[in-house]
Amino acid sequence: MKKLFALALTLVMALSLTACGDKQEPTTTDPADSDEGGFKTAVEGTLSMATEATFPPYEFYDGDKLVGIDVDVAGAIAEKLGLKLDVVDIAFDSIVPGVQTGKYDIGMAGMTVNKERLQQVNFTDSYAKGVQVVIVKEGSTITSVDDLFAEGANHTVGTQTYTTGFLYASDDIQAKGLGTVKSFAKTTDAVEALKNDQVDCVILDNEPAKALVAANEGLTILDSSYADEDYAIAISKENDALKEAVNTALQELINDGTVQKIVDSYIK
Ligand code: GLN
Repeated sequence: MKKLFALALTLVMALSLTACGDKQEPTTTDPADSDEGGFKTAVEGTLSMATEATFPPYEFYDGDKLVGIDVDVAGAIAEKLGLKLDVVDIAFDSIVPGVQTGKYDIGMAGMTVNKERLQQVNFTDSYAKGVQVVIVKEGSTITSVDDLFAEGANHTVGTQTYTTGFLYASDDIQAKGLGTVKSFAKTTDAVEALKNDQVDCVILDNEPAKALVAANEGLTILDSSYADEDYAIAISKENDALKEAVNTALQELINDGTVQKIVDSYIK
């Protein structure tokens, strides 16, 4: 493992907290900020979730229906908060700015908690772990993650724009003169580029990597992994009441096994 974001603590905290009660009750009677129980949302009665839907099994299209672990977890949270979920599929690098400015209530996209994003938004407790892995074409000369950092290495590395994979590759490979990073709007575009030999490998999260390798012949995931991460829900720094309400709902859904049940329905 090259990097380990020390945010496992959030998960430990998440698991040690106990929460009870089904619905969020109003915590204030101030009409200025108590539309739906002490928190405000961009559109009254709705929880808007910004995502980028080329990230199976967290968010993807099943026909023309947007589904996935994040969509179902957000749906369960919205239900607890008495809100209707509205999922919006936008560019991955627009999610954090959209949440920061209050255009969307939450950002949920297998989104890793990292220092850069924490300057712009807050995150809830973590609800899942991610692992950065490397996909190559079968028979590639790249046989381990370490090959990317070897002296004299000069690979073209594909990533999705603004992802942690992009940040790692930029810092660890391009900035050190060990190769070039190409970024793509969608994970699926990065995988197409690998198939067409425009890049030598793609760095991305393990679950989408597995799904994309299964859906595309001739690709394989290297055994060694690149980094461990925590996924959480991004919420505006201006909306602590919503963060508290979402966290409470999330804890209940973790504690009663709902989150695990949702994960198990997508990851066999
Ligand atoms: N977990 C990675 C990140 O947050 C990738 C997320 C994604 O591509 N949806 O940067």
